Amino acid sequence: MAKQMKEAPAVPPELLSWMCEIRQSIHHNPELSFNEYDTADYVRSKLKEIGISRQWKVTETGVVAEIGDPGSSSVVGLRADMDALPVKEETGLPFASKHTGIMHACGHDGHVAMLLGAAFLLQGMSFPGRVRLLFQPAEEKGNGAESMIAGGAIDNLAAIFGGHIDTHYETGSITVDEGIICAFADAFIVTINGSAGHAARPHECKDAIVAAAGLILSLQSLVSREVNPNHAVVVSVGRIRAGEIHNVIAGEAVLEGTIRSTHQDSRTAVISGLKRMVRSCAECYGVQVDLQFPEFLPAVINDSVGTQVARQAAEKVVSSGNVISQGPSSLGGEDFSFYLQKTKGCLVRFGARISDTAGPAHSSTFDFDEAVLGIGASWYAQVAETFLCGCGDR
Ligand SMILES: [Zn+2]
Ligand SMILES: [Zn+2]
Repeated sequence: MAKQMKEAPAVPPELLSWMCEIRQSIHHNPELSFNEYDTADYVRSKLKEIGISRQWKVTETGVVAEIGDPGSSSVVGLRADMDALPVKEETGLPFASKHTGIMHACGHDGHVAMLLGAAFLLQGMSFPGRVRLLFQPAEEKGNGAESMIAGGAIDNLAAIFGGHIDTHYETGSITVDEGIICAFADAFIVTINGSAGHAARPHECKDAIVAAAGLILSLQSLVSREVNPNHAVVVSVGRIRAGEIHNVIAGEAVLEGTIRSTHQDSRTAVISGLKRMVRSCAECYGVQVDLQFPEFLPAVINDSVGTQVARQAAEKVVSSGNVISQGPSSLGGEDFSFYLQKTKGCLVRFGARISDTAGPAHSSTFDFDEAVLGIGASWYAQVAETFLCGCGDR
């Protein structure tokens, strides 16, 4: 358990209030993935307010800005995600969402505020090279990072760093881990086609619901029987659609699920087992079965150089006793992984526990301790400076 941070806040109180105001304003006006138009405008205006004019648009709603020597070829990236979730807010906060059914329930409002705070700090610091700020859309949808990459946002970057607010940990702690910290996430859709008919005459039909039920039960043995028990894997079916009425046998069933894994060989084993079970389901129930993988998120794998720099920066901000490990990889996905497939870097977690009454991330009562904004801003500024100052050694 990390020690509660007792020292003075990491940033001047005026800067913390400025960031809290930003966080609350964004929280009040949340926008879903790829619809972050107001948020992007707001970010641009705040950057301008603190004198950062080198900024440009990437994709419809992404914002990129740069600070430092424009002629330098050493560039380090800092990323914040900006999107909200389709969740109906129930926090009762005075700055709660004004859009029913949309909520910043993952802390991305805080990420934007802390990266703007870091921009302010960096404006007053001297460092070699350039710092590129990436305000990214659509993390929750899983393809915002790819759109930023396609738009050139990480061209010429030597490394990229990011952080995520995490209320599992006390405010004042930062988790830094080398290697895998977020899982591979493979979404899948199984479509079963049989033939519909009267519920009283099953012998005239091919019941897609019975085939779906059989397949779902078979899938439960993938994790228990086919992967190394030391490797964390999850196979979850989160949605089933089939049938219209009690007295008609359903001719079609659609299952949607996700596979989360933390080792490539377990991922391969589960995917090949799923394909085998789908084939045998068709044979077993006399139906046609189609399997698609509509989305894939690679695992977030922090490299050794990025992790070392992230750790040094964290130690400067919260002291070494408060730099902790998250332990085994999360089974959650994070599209920061796409950046780390292209360049060096590290994703950390900022402790921000607020109270036992606030719900977890993605819940309608999610909230975090705003003191984390100062810690995050300091870490972002520090990690950029630490990386650029050490560039010659790498
Ligand atoms: Zn999220
Ligand atoms: Zn998130």
